[in-house]
Amino acid sequence: MTAPGRPLRTAEVIAVGSELLGTTRLDTNSLFLADRLASLGIVLRAKAVVGDSREDLSALFSQALGRSDLVITTGGLGPTDDDLTRDVVAAALSLPLEEDAAIVARIAERFARRGLHMPEVNRRQAMVPAGAVVLNNPNGTAPGLFIDHGDRVVVLLPGPPRELQPMMDGLVVGALAERASAERLFRTTLAVTGRSESHVEEAIQPIYSAWRDAKPSIDTTILAVPGQIELHLTLRSSDETHARQTLANARDALMTALGDDVFSSDGRAMEEVVGDLLRARDLTVAVAESCTGGLLTSRLTDVPGSSAYVLAGVAAYSNTAKTELVGVPASLLEAHGAVSEPVAEALARGIMARTGADVGVGVTGIAGPGGATPGKPVGTVAIAVARGAESAITRTFRFPGGRAQVKYSATQAALDMLRRLLSQ
Ligand code: ATP
Repeated sequence: MTAPGRPLRTAEVIAVGSELLGTTRLDTNSLFLADRLASLGIVLRAKAVVGDSREDLSALFSQALGRSDLVITTGGLGPTDDDLTRDVVAAALSLPLEEDAAIVARIAERFARRGLHMPEVNRRQAMVPAGAVVLNNPNGTAPGLFIDHGDRVVVLLPGPPRELQPMMDGLVVGALAERASAERLFRTTLAVTGRSESHVEEAIQPIYSAWRDAKPSIDTTILAVPGQIELHLTLRSSDETHARQTLANARDALMTALGDDVFSSDGRAMEEVVGDLLRARDLTVAVAESCTGGLLTSRLTDVPGSSAYVLAGVAAYSNTAKTELVGVPASLLEAHGAVSEPVAEALARGIMARTGADVGVGVTGIAGPGGATPGKPVGTVAIAVARGAESAITRTFRFPGGRAQVKYSATQAALDMLRRLLSQ
C-alpha cells in the first residue's frame, strides 16, 4: 500500500449521496475524517457533498485530485445503479475495473450466513480498479479501496459511519501515516466563562500575536460557543516533546492572563469540572430550578458517577411549587416577584434545607418569548448558590437569544457560580 515518495500534505474529502443534499441527513463522516487527518498532520483544504450524479462527482473528483495529494470519498459504494463512486473514480484515473473473486466470495458468504443467495447486483461491489488495494469491510458488504496513483493517494470508503470508521482506523490511518510528512498537528483547548469574546481577545491578543512569528508558530483561534469562549491553539511540528512543551507554556501564559475565568484546559466540560470539585471536597449538591425546567439537574447528572454528589433536583415551575416543594415564603414571591435574587436565594436555601445537601442552587428567570415585565425583559435570570448557613452568591443575568439559548446559558452560569464558590 505504500510507495514512499513526496509526503502527503493536503487532502480533500468528498461525501457522495443525494440524501446528504436533502433536509434529513447530515454529512458527519467528514468531521470524523477531519479529526484523523489533523492527527496525521495532513491539511484538509476542502470538503464537499455531492449527489449521485456521474457528471458532478467526476468534475469534483478531478478538481480535488488536481490540487490535493489525497482525496477521500465516502459513500456510493453500494450495489445499486446510483452507487457511482467506484466507476467514476476508475474512469477519472483511467484504471480498468476487474472483478475480484475473493470479494464476490466474501459477499456471498455474508448473504449465506443469513440464509440468503447473493443478488447478482452485488457483483458490482467486487469490481476493483486495477492496482487498488481492497479494504475489507467486516461491518457491511461494500469494501473500501486504497489507490496509489503516482504522487497522489485516493481512498474510497463506504458511507455508513459504523463501516467507515473502523475501516479508516484499522486499515487506512496506518498506511497514510507512512506517506504523511514527519510533521504532526498538536492541539490544546482552553474554555473560558465570564467574559465576552472581545474581552477575551483584548486580554490575550498581545500574547498570542507574538506566537505567529515564532518557530514553530502557534495558531490561535477564538471561538464563541453557547455558554463559553473556546481558545484553540494548534502547532505543527515533527518534534513531539518540544511541541507539547511549547503548547503547555502557551496555555500557561493564557491562563495567567485570564485567571480563574479559565474553567477547563483539559477538555472537561463545565459539569465535569464542577463534579470533580464536589467530589474532591466531599460535598453534595441539590438544585431547585424554575426557568431551566430540569436542564441544570440533567447536565449535572450527565457525568458518570454523579450520584456520589447530586442529591436532588426539583423543577419548581409554578409559584405554588416553589412554596410547597422548596419552602419559598409566599410573601417573598409577592414582594419581589418570582424572578428575583431573594427568590433565587430562597430556592437555593430551601432545597439545601429540605435535602440536607451541603450546597444548594436556585435558578429563576424568564426564558421567553413571553413573560417579560417592566424592568425584567426576556432573558432575565436570577441565580443563587448557597453553601451552609452563611455563604451565598446571588446574581442577575440578562441572556440573549431564544428560549433554548436562555435556558442553556442559565445552566452554564449556575454551574460557573458553583465552580467559583467551590474554588474559594
Ligand atoms: P453500503 O452499500 O454498505 O450501504 P455505501 O458506500 O453505498 O455503503 P451509501 O449508500 O452512500 O453507502 O450510504 C449509506 C448510508 O450511510 C446513508 O443512508 C447514510 O445513513 C450513511 N451515510 C452516507 N454518507 C454519509 C456521510 N457522509 N455522513 C454520515 N452518514 C453517511
